[in-house]
Amino acid sequence: MVYHQFATLYKMQFDVKERDEKLFFGIKFKGKGLAFAKKVVSLCHIYKRKNSEIMNRKLLLISNSTNRGEAYLDWPKSQISEFLTRHGVKKVLFVPFAGVSLSPDGLEASYNAYEAKVKAVFNALGFELSSIHHEADPVAAVEAAECVAVGGGNTFHLVKELHRQKLMDAISKRAMAGMPYMGWSAGSNVAGPTLCTTNDMPIVEPESFRCMNLVPFQINPHYTDFFDPKHGGETRDDRLKEYIMVNPNMYVAGIREATSLLLENGKLSLIGRPNKMKVFKEKIENTKEYDLGEDINFLMK
Ligand code: ASP
Repeated sequence: MVYHQFATLYKMQFDVKERDEKLFFGIKFKGKGLAFAKKVVSLCHIYKRKNSEIMNRKLLLISNSTNRGEAYLDWPKSQISEFLTRHGVKKVLFVPFAGVSLSPDGLEASYNAYEAKVKAVFNALGFELSSIHHEADPVAAVEAAECVAVGGGNTFHLVKELHRQKLMDAISKRAMAGMPYMGWSAGSNVAGPTLCTTNDMPIVEPESFRCMNLVPFQINPHYTDFFDPKHGGETRDDRLKEYIMVNPNMYVAGIREATSLLLENGKLSLIGRPNKMKVFKEKIENTKEYDLGEDINFLMK
């Protein structure tokens, strides 16, 4: 709030050229007052930059591709089509590296099969799509992409490949600057700061757990509070509780099936079917559920 007031003042009154003349917000400062004013101005710069980056971002983070009993990517198809149309996207660059088991013939065959499956859906919606695994220079492909879509599967494998191929930073940089980004499941996990709240097994070891940080909170896709009284293992809430116990400053958004998070024009919203999102922070007693349409912008702070 204070930052916001300073930022408004800054926008109204501060002229960069005045810095040398010790004039800030139209007032002359000296000594400690001057140091303080400079600090305030630099905080305003940070605030302004952060805010304009958030305003630029266009994200569609889908919980799940398939709803039980429905065709592949069927439930979110209008979200996908409206998102791409709103942002003038005609061609999508697909990232298949989470899809490790779509063919018995190895990874390359699995990526090919994954691409064919996703391409059929996107083509039917009127969009072109090609997979990054065919590219000789994947970073250059990201730099030239209109939109990147990251598919679900195993998040550890996805993160390993994104780091190994220098794509984590390349995609993040473009998406921070306004390239539309969409992902489902593992592709939504990697939009957060780390992979720590994935549901997947660590089938490979990535060089780092660090992800794209396009949103400052963790995502747990396919969130469910289903409890099987005959099963003695941890529930999802038990596992997420472990995360918030050791990361008390982080929020985790548990997004249920058939829901997505949309960030456009600086506004975060939960869209899809009426399945509440559960937000975890610090103590399990603080968890709270949010309906479609509720204000969830505190997550972006
Ligand atoms: N394995 C999930 C997916 O479908 C990701 C997750 O559950 O964390 O991509």
